[in-house]
Amino acid sequence: MKRLHARYPFLDAAREAVELAEVDLAELVLRDDGAAAVDRAVERVDAALSGESVGAPHRRPRVELLSYPIARVLVSLVDEPVLLRKYAHAEASTARERFEADADDDAELKSTSGSRMTIDRLLADFDLAGDVRSTGDDQYRVAVGPYLRLSGQLDGAEWRLATRALGDGEVPVEEAELRDLLEAAIRERVADGLPLPVPDPIAEGLSDAVERIEESLADRQLSTDFDAVVPSLFPPCIRALLEQVDDGESIDEPGRFALTSFLTSLGMAPDAAADLVAGATVGGESIRYQAAHLGDEDDPGYAPPSCNSMVAYGLCVDKDELCESVEHPITYYDRRLDDADTATAESE
Ligand code: SF4
Repeated sequence: MKRLHARYPFLDAAREAVELAEVDLAELVLRDDGAAAVDRAVERVDAALSGESVGAPHRRPRVELLSYPIARVLVSLVDEPVLLRKYAHAEASTARERFEADADDDAELKSTSGSRMTIDRLLADFDLAGDVRSTGDDQYRVAVGPYLRLSGQLDGAEWRLATRALGDGEVPVEEAELRDLLEAAIRERVADGLPLPVPDPIAEGLSDAVERIEESLADRQLSTDFDAVVPSLFPPCIRALLEQVDDGESIDEPGRFALTSFLTSLGMAPDAAADLVAGATVGGESIRYQAAHLGDEDDPGYAPPSCNSMVAYGLCVDKDELCESVEHPITYYDRRLDDADTATAESE
């Protein structure tokens, strides 16, 4: 198994390498020599919960590579939307860090080693080679279809098509922006299919590992059951919508979508979302209906709108200092949760 596959385990070639090695995950997780891969998989997920990385790679490429499919199984077994989201985010962000380090190494060595990632390799693996072309000086043009799909996951007005000089069905981007788009493609691939259906023998073999991750989730108060959701840490825009519902005021369609997609993306079940607005029966029923139709516990459904979209709908209200440094209401909530965790840890 190549070092490149271990560093970029989401690549098609890495998956094929695992298949070629005829690794049986059910057997592996039960064998003593599989313990290192399971431990590293737990570390991957645990690191994803604490930040934007999946941690340092294991010194053995085989262990590192095998830990990736096991980590995907683990997040599937824990099956918390916030964990799935953070995990995909951390895998993509780590891949980007490694990719940028590889690019710097190549620039220094003026060579393209087989163990380093390049933009061309990534584009080929994601079937984007025909959709992206270099125009020199770190400038690229991306076919509008893939651009819209990938940039749709990114925050910021600069990604809107209206701000780009679209020509001949292509959108101009700088190299750093192309890396943003590739990071989005990686996130999409990592999240694809999660949560996976997991056969019983594998689930049984990983029960201890799952327990470790669940404890870690509980410690960080990121568990997404109703008790762990902290409305007082919600961003001002969402708190304002909740207050409106609480006061018995009706909210318009964009507001209902923003509120319910925010709540369900925290993993809240439709009934729990309705309970959160208890006291406003009409609003509660409306929220229950909306949430049930946006997604469910297995599939959180649509992502809540970004801050830019909230501004466009007139829903961005009562901005505070933290709002100045976030581009998404979910990021605001994540930061407030992290701050609350840090404050709790410091007081202990
Ligand atoms: S800046 Fe973002 S998080 Fe803050 S109130 Fe506006 S939409 Fe909400």
